[in-house]
Amino acid sequence: MGNTETLFERAKKVMPGGVNHPECAFGAVHGIPRFIEKGEGSQIYDVDGSVCTDYVCSWGSLILGHNHPDIRRMVAETIQDGLSFGAPTRLEVAMAELMVHMVPNVDKVRIVNSGTEAVMSALRLARGFTGREKLIKFDGCSHGHCDSMLVKAGSGVLATGQPDSPGVPAGTAKDTLVATYNDLTEVERLFAEHNGEIAAVIVEPVAVNMGVVPPEPGFLAGLRALCDQNGALLIFDEISTGFRIAPGGAQEVFGVRADMVTFGKVIGGGMPVGAYAARGEIMDDVAPAGPVYQAGTFSGNPVAIAAGLAQLTLLHEHPEIYVYTGALGKQLERGFRFLAQKHRIPATVGRFHSLLTLFFHNGPVTCGKQARESSTEAYAAFFNGMLAGGSYFAPSQFEAAFLSSAHTQAELEQTLLTADTVLAEMAPVYAE
Ligand SMILES: *Cc1c(COP(=O)(O)O)cnc(C)c1O
Repeated sequence: MGNTETLFERAKKVMPGGVNHPECAFGAVHGIPRFIEKGEGSQIYDVDGSVCTDYVCSWGSLILGHNHPDIRRMVAETIQDGLSFGAPTRLEVAMAELMVHMVPNVDKVRIVNSGTEAVMSALRLARGFTGREKLIKFDGCSHGHCDSMLVKAGSGVLATGQPDSPGVPAGTAKDTLVATYNDLTEVERLFAEHNGEIAAVIVEPVAVNMGVVPPEPGFLAGLRALCDQNGALLIFDEISTGFRIAPGGAQEVFGVRADMVTFGKVIGGGMPVGAYAARGEIMDDVAPAGPVYQAGTFSGNPVAIAAGLAQLTLLHEHPEIYVYTGALGKQLERGFRFLAQKHRIPATVGRFHSLLTLFFHNGPVTCGKQARESSTEAYAAFFNGMLAGGSYFAPSQFEAAFLSSAHTQAELEQTLLTADTVLAEMAPVYAE
């Protein structure tokens, strides 16, 4: 047995499914996970010595690639002075200042340790601020694993949310209403049915967690208008899009103002950092300035913030990174579209900027239901072929490929050559 098999056997004995993140178990692609030894730029090296071009990049956190020297240096300098204090540091002040500078419509931020924590806290704040309890989310959008977001649409006319996991109380789920992504009429209906009860609408401004599904023209602006008409807050969950699709995220790209924004992934530069942000009037409701309680032992941890601050500083000083990573996204999209057509594979590409999904679906894919119609078996075949050829994509159809400034056009061409072979081998299945 290679190191990989041995490690996975050991892991399964002591961790559920052998992992700490379900998708890392490779179940959806019928494989066993790679155990990574190191990353450098766009490349990852596993414990059996194979090297891959990485299109996961720590679920998108590493927009500058693995082991960026400036981030590593800042972390190394910071750890000389200790790892954690339970008291404020200069770093978190600088981090909050830079975030407020980069992100539109935001006066204050609260830093936490993960995306889930940011969402959970933002939802509490939205409820506290508005004095209302119900939330609207969208089918297919994922906002981490807090109870109120692990909810699926119920059936029936006045459908209320149903738990999407055992352990989520029905009482919690019923306060989350689920609408179809890119469908404003459903949101309008929910507001009418629950007049005066809805605290917030939470949305991925570009959906990434059903695979990449961009918002249709007018969708985000329509949500803004509906929230204004009904006195509800609009929350952009920018944990995947924040600091990635533009320095100011989706608000900057689409010109739509959100009342609250949640962050994770890129904001931590590879370390566990999350944050939520809003205008001062809202944020001053958070303890200790206001009555809405939220706290965390490691919130603002100096080592984590060192990595995040180094990454955000580089992004702030080098806006050309956004031009480059966006162009890489376009190159990969064009290549995949061309190859799918060449080999007559029913597939479509969902892309926004440097986030991309090859859906094994005739298209269009504009919502969660359509995304779920994709062939996960075709994706598994694609994934395993690509991995064998040296390109590491996310082990699920319903994730994005994430590009970084460390990827080169030549690497993408190599990946597309591999895809040419892999899709050619898949083509006979579709010809039958
Ligand atoms: C990753 C992600 C989350 C969850 O963040 P964690 O840090 O994994 O808890 C929530 N929302 C969106 C949009 C995400 O992409």
